[in-house]
Amino acid sequence: MNVAVLSGGVGGARFLRGLIGVVGGGNVSIVGNVADDIEVLGLRVSPDLDSILYTLTGLADEERGWGRAGETWHALETVAQLGGESWFRLGDRDIGLHLVRSELLRSGVPLSEATEQIAHAVGLDALLLPATDDPLRTFVETPAGTFPFQTWFVARGHRDDVDGVHYAGSPDARPAPGVIDALEGADVILIAPSNPYVSIGPILAVAEIRAALERRTVPCVAISPLIGGRAVKGPADRMLQRLAGGTSPAHVASCYPGLIDALVIDEADLPALAGDDVRLVVTRTLMSDVAAARRLAAATIDAAGTRA
Ligand code: GDP
Ligand code: CA
Repeated sequence: MNVAVLSGGVGGARFLRGLIGVVGGGNVSIVGNVADDIEVLGLRVSPDLDSILYTLTGLADEERGWGRAGETWHALETVAQLGGESWFRLGDRDIGLHLVRSELLRSGVPLSEATEQIAHAVGLDALLLPATDDPLRTFVETPAGTFPFQTWFVARGHRDDVDGVHYAGSPDARPAPGVIDALEGADVILIAPSNPYVSIGPILAVAEIRAALERRTVPCVAISPLIGGRAVKGPADRMLQRLAGGTSPAHVASCYPGLIDALVIDEADLPALAGDDVRLVVTRTLMSDVAAARRLAAATIDAAGTRA
């Protein structure tokens, strides 16, 4: 059984780890967000792809919630001492990956191929595909101005309310090689419990990816990133409140019009309606550990009407 998953970083990665426990990595194709990517200190950083890589290969720092376990920060300390740009936190081990990726990109290798090489080297058995090899960047519109995603998220601590988001480069962005094949060859398509606006939105802003979902002949199931109307972490609830008008399951479903057949929600969000043509599936969605993530993944696969 082939499963294709649209995914952001941390929330997506936690879900993917559970999913791989249920269906096996060889059956999972991941379409990852790249609109959070940033050039910093001459390095190309792909935070969402790296969260997935680190989480799925046991390298992630689970407590901090991002980056690598056993990390040290000597390089960034030196950068700060020398007056360099140090607001974007890069650990020493993490930098090693960014050096390799940046060098590959500089030599003309596309991001999808660089990602494949890195994934192979760290022993990832799932297929990890960037949504696009083309430049695609999220910008966040706030009362204080419009900011590149990482400036708003990291430097400003996502404190500004969001009036809108846009994805620079989306009109010209083509799906990376393998993405459409993965979606067309899937027995079920999933949208991970990731931020609808800044993680899944940019993937769906690639017109051919959105079109592939619209013409799907297999079920597409999304998992809500909200529990009891609140984000487990991050600004998704505030964004939904302001941009969709609320944080109920119907508001989450409204982010994916015509694109999903079912929405998996937490018991804490009952009573609820999903809106037209979207079936609600109720379970516990907090991925407090790998076992909980596996249970959520199994319930999601069941909801798609397909069994692993
Ligand atoms: P990012 O790119 O690293 O910000 O990660 P994602 O966009 O993939 O995931 C962020 C979302 O994951 C947030 O909106 C969280 O509410 C959601 N999330 C994190 N942990 C859980 C969980 O255990 N259950 C559910 N349902 N959502 C979660
Ligand atoms: Ca992200």
